[in-house]
Amino acid sequence: MQLTLKSFCLTATVISGLAFNLQAQTGFDAQRAFEDLQSQCDLGPRNPGSAGAQAAIQYFQAVLEPLADAFFLQQFQLSDPYSSGKLNLTNVVARFQPEKTQRIILCAHWDTRPRAEYDPSAPDKPMLGANDGASGVAILLEIARQLPSNPVNPGIDIVLFDGEDYGKPRDLEHYLLGSRYYVEHPFLPMAQQVILLDMVGDAELTLKVDPVSYRSAPRLIEEIWALANDIGYDQFQLVVGSSMYDDHVPFIEKGIQAIDIIDFEYPGPDNAYWHTHEDTPDKCSAESLEAVGNTVLSWLYQQ
Ligand SMILES: [Zn+2]
Repeated sequence: MQLTLKSFCLTATVISGLAFNLQAQTGFDAQRAFEDLQSQCDLGPRNPGSAGAQAAIQYFQAVLEPLADAFFLQQFQLSDPYSSGKLNLTNVVARFQPEKTQRIILCAHWDTRPRAEYDPSAPDKPMLGANDGASGVAILLEIARQLPSNPVNPGIDIVLFDGEDYGKPRDLEHYLLGSRYYVEHPFLPMAQQVILLDMVGDAELTLKVDPVSYRSAPRLIEEIWALANDIGYDQFQLVVGSSMYDDHVPFIEKGIQAIDIIDFEYPGPDNAYWHTHEDTPDKCSAESLEAVGNTVLSWLYQQ
């Protein structure tokens, strides 16, 4: 994703907790989720056209197809903006209870960056993307494992986007390739709400509120942050964070409520590991995956 420069003030900086205490008994296995993070990184960089990308698609299919009620590889081709060739991209879609009209999309980008522009030693080499790529996917694979035996009321579409992180810095047109394609070619019925996970694995997790998300769906933000705090996850902080240009934006542009749960301080406010070769599994933790995965799943069970 890219940082945008707009600023925005939350109208509410503090809200009261929900009127119950939730014991987080969702079955979410954070250790298994962390193995999913590690396994993706073991495949190497997963930028478009790489061997790692092909292997990753097979990995996602092997996990998700047996779990989902319907599974699709949404393949599409674009002109490569940075060469004369073509970009072959694949969104991975796992649908649960596809007949339901009340639906929620849970999504993350699975691709990793073909360059690491802020790395001092090798800025032109593809990066591993443990946090920026693998972390959101890892949580969604583990949530998918919970849904067949413990279904939630709404229909769920787990969508893993390709091509989120393809653009060069400030070339916003060439980010969000998979999510932009998806909103033009959605699986129907379309969801009413979208929850995006990105950079959620940082061992020093701090989840502030993206103002773009808050403008789109303030109640959804407040519910999820309050629930997280009630469970005991103080990583969720209901204060204004950076404005994000991420895979939630194409949905918002279509009038769909969409939020981005993202920690854009990796590991601290200077975001020093972001788009560098320091973005590796040892900078991430199962505890962080648990805080996000358990919160999102707990929220789903309340719907
Ligand atoms: Zn990125």
